Amino acid sequence: MSATRIVNLLSASSAASFVGQQVLIQGWVRTRRDSKGGFSFLEVNDGSALASLQVIADQKLANYESEILKIGVGACVTVRGTVVESKGQKQAIELSAEEVTVLGSADATYPLQKKGHSLEFLRSIAHLRARTNTFGAVARVRSAMAFAIHDYFRKNGFVYLHTPIITASDCEGAGAMFRVSTLDPEKLPRTPQGSVDFSQDFFSRATSLTVSGQLEAETYALALGKVYTFGPTFRAENSNTSRHLAEFWMVEPEMAFFDLDMNAALAEDFLKTVLRTVLVGCPEDMGFLASRADYPVHETLQHIIESPFERLSYTDAVAILQKSGKKFDYPVAWGQPLQTEHERFLTEQEFKRPVIVTGYPKEFTAFYMRLNEDGKTVRAMDVLVPRIGEIIGGSQREERYDRLVARMQEAGLNTAEYEWYLATRRYGSAPHAGFGLGFERLIQFATGMENIRDVIPFPRYPQHAEF
Ligand code: ATP
Ligand code: MN
Repeated sequence: MSATRIVNLLSASSAASFVGQQVLIQGWVRTRRDSKGGFSFLEVNDGSALASLQVIADQKLANYESEILKIGVGACVTVRGTVVESKGQKQAIELSAEEVTVLGSADATYPLQKKGHSLEFLRSIAHLRARTNTFGAVARVRSAMAFAIHDYFRKNGFVYLHTPIITASDCEGAGAMFRVSTLDPEKLPRTPQGSVDFSQDFFSRATSLTVSGQLEAETYALALGKVYTFGPTFRAENSNTSRHLAEFWMVEPEMAFFDLDMNAALAEDFLKTVLRTVLVGCPEDMGFLASRADYPVHETLQHIIESPFERLSYTDAVAILQKSGKKFDYPVAWGQPLQTEHERFLTEQEFKRPVIVTGYPKEFTAFYMRLNEDGKTVRAMDVLVPRIGEIIGGSQREERYDRLVARMQEAGLNTAEYEWYLATRRYGSAPHAGFGLGFERLIQFATGMENIRDVIPFPRYPQHAEF
């Protein structure tokens, strides 16, 4: 007899039709209650859904005394039984057990005995936290969201591209990089000048974990038209915030023949579609996560799905911030980057919907962003959303060879190392654009989870690489 998943048993459309049928379920015990009437209740959760199934085990079962009465919270069981209508108020059906087999016991040291552990504590037992309602829900929403993203791009004619994780190019200096090396740190080979001799390293050069797949994706966009990457990226920044990880997943679409306006329109449509898909597709999990947040998550998402995003130039954004009379920790000045407090003011208070800021000064933006006619600003865009601030960063790319080389030189990059990248501008260059979305920031935004460390199974951040 093959096992039935609890999600199928409990779904409104099938619960009634299962009544009277024999089924087998497998899962982990959330609670055991023994009744004086000579039977026990087990709440069994198999991870297929938020809800657990109630199992009734009668004392007539052969192993009732020897095993069932000793089942601890966290134990894994297989139950064969008959689906019956529940007499309780909380559930429509329950399982009347004919056979309960303990696959793996759990004793009183199981850390998830009581409900209501703090998220900080659960982070320290990340290997077990998926067995809680919150982390089960986050894991299912994360998965549904990943599929929604792939679906969106597939339906819109994009090719899914895998860019390298190990790279020799420092994409834009997006962030500090983690070095990849097989050199013995105890015996580093030295050049005659005394610096580390990376020519003796595995790749005969210094390499790192990638901070972005963009440069490689650009070369494929200039061949296939529309591509996207969806993979791990790494930043060795020492940012101890609730929105930064050292290892996170980034979604990076890159499109030939797109200008900045088309790029912004795609980002808006993409965000709305993916949010709508998880709201419709994961009602129980999204509802549960919303219920534990301290603001109305559903209303916020619904509002965002329905509102046109505000488009605003960086110059106008600075003017609005300066006129606001608000005291910010970081002063606002044209030529300075916007800080999260500024971004949040614009989206939460000034416009009360997502804002796409475009045209940042070239001084603090990456070399590959297309220079505007004013010679001062570039065709960059950031999508800002409430609570998070920047969720997407993107730009129209500089497709003109001479301008690109000039900006690389200004940025102090060694153009010889980027010959492959520059070749795309020398041969059949085309206007193109793209953006990067931090997948975890999107999950954070959709679920209302406060800390980015709680929306990835095993978070990596300063001082933390356990598990
Ligand atoms: P921020 O200013 O918020 O640190 P950034 O400008 O460095 O971000 P980009 O280089 O533009 O970010 O990266 C594109 C997207 O990747 C960002 O909009 C954000 O959603 C996400 N992202 C960037 N850094 C991180 C990080 N350390 N952890 C998680 N997501 C990140
Ligand atoms: Mn950015």
